[in-house]
Amino acid sequence: MQRIGVMTSGGDAPGMNANVRAVVRTGVSRGVQVFGIRDGFAGLISDEIIPMTSPSVGGIIGKGGTILGTARCEEFRDPAGRAKAAQTLRKHGIEGIVVCGGDGSFRGAHLLWKEHDIPVICTPGTIDNDLAGTDYTIGFDTAVNTALEAIDRIRDTAEAHRRTFIVEVMGRHSGFIALATGIGGGADAVLVPEIPPDIPRIISMVERRFAAGKRFSLIVVAEGVVIDDFPGAGSVAHILKKHGLDCRVSIIGHQQRGGAPTALDREFASLLGKEAVEELLRGGTDKMAGIVGKRVEFCDLEYSWREKKPIDMEVYRFISGAAI
Ligand code: ADP
Repeated sequence: MQRIGVMTSGGDAPGMNANVRAVVRTGVSRGVQVFGIRDGFAGLISDEIIPMTSPSVGGIIGKGGTILGTARCEEFRDPAGRAKAAQTLRKHGIEGIVVCGGDGSFRGAHLLWKEHDIPVICTPGTIDNDLAGTDYTIGFDTAVNTALEAIDRIRDTAEAHRRTFIVEVMGRHSGFIALATGIGGGADAVLVPEIPPDIPRIISMVERRFAAGKRFSLIVVAEGVVIDDFPGAGSVAHILKKHGLDCRVSIIGHQQRGGAPTALDREFASLLGKEAVEELLRGGTDKMAGIVGKRVEFCDLEYSWREKKPIDMEVYRFISGAAI
């Protein structure tokens, strides 16, 4: 292979830049020309391709967001859109691409391979950590640490006022961020989309804590939790208020997507980028590079979204059982 492309696609995640940097520098060191594709699949369709050099990725390892930009692209869901994308790659002589994104981007990349024989290797770039075949996804560690910083501040004010705080973190379909934030933030309960919430238990936990002289309770809720048709932290607050419990809601929101990536995100994103290029050059395709243990392992792209990665029930039970 003489020319490869790299793109970031779907939801942005801190560490994507470290991934792009590693792809570019690995490619250059192997004598390959690397091209950046702007704004994910949208840039393939509108032919926004830029040559990348080693200096062009200088100083980006610690930056949040993605220098290539990312987008959601409806046209690419259509076979005609994908044909246009393939045509752009052929026009530039790009023989294979590395796609950093989530399961939606992987489905798109998979089709580009199936329909147009364009080799694709993907790296898991999503704060949600909801892809099978990898213990970890790029951006997850930074998102959890951002949520933890907020929780540490919230605990101070909660304690001062004898209040229950319900903190909403990201995770529309999965509770990985909620669980990691819950255990790291010393939460008294965590609600995740995977497990129906036990509301009576939460109410009695809050009441018992106040009866035992505790000045506050902290509940972490993933945004995808739904109670009585209401989503997120607001639904829990509504119920606690009905029981006469004073509570406040704090939604951490998009802060979790931004900011400088943590050391772990930089390290794993770099390793994944390097290995993705090596695999592409070995002739691999239709695979995701993941972190298993502390090493890079590849799985079939389809496995990453077909298989449902389970949350750690031991951690969930530990948090639920640890509150007084
Ligand atoms: P993420 O990659 O973070 O999961 P999305 O689900 O929004 O983000 O997917 C990113 C892009 O991937 C979409 O805008 C679309 O262009 C493409 N895509 C997603 N799902 C499919 C699909 N089933 N077929 C083709 N392309 C898809």
